[in-house]
Amino acid sequence: MNCPACDNPLTEMTVGQVTIDVCQGGCGGIWFDNFELKKVDDDFTGAALLLIERDDHQLVDYERRRHCPRCGDVVMMRHFFSDRRQVEVDTCPHCAGAWLDAGELSMIRREIHEKQQQEEATRLYFRKFFEQDYVKTRMPQPPPGDVPGSPPPPSVG
Ligand SMILES: [Zn+2]
Ligand SMILES: [Zn+2]
Repeated sequence: MNCPACDNPLTEMTVGQVTIDVCQGGCGGIWFDNFELKKVDDDFTGAALLLIERDDHQLVDYERRRHCPRCGDVVMMRHFFSDRRQVEVDTCPHCAGAWLDAGELSMIRREIHEKQQQEEATRLYFRKFFEQDYVKTRMPQPPPGDVPGSPPPPSVG
């Protein structure tokens, strides 16, 4: 497979439980096969970023249409990694693989970090909330019995 951004041959690399193809010595981009991107976590990104050598002189044309390195003639679609709309990734509509340019992985890591911090803060907030003594409020009940009767049926005749 060749790099969709700079045509350098991609190097297969296994980091943790994920096998990725990186543009080693080229633009430093990373190819993730179907759903591998979802397994990315802190350990993974830290290790992967250390492993990838990048040629700083390698220019990448971000505007160029990129073809999926696996499917060849399928053009990838650019979209945001998450609803935070900070990182854009190229994904293949055919094989669901994803391409990250150099630097995008660390941005995703930062996004994941922020999200975790936010979740932690939310968790702490709710724990505090539930630990508080709160007074149980009861809905007012209608008095028993006393149901207003329906009007008598009209007499037929
Ligand atoms: Zn490349
Ligand atoms: Zn593909």
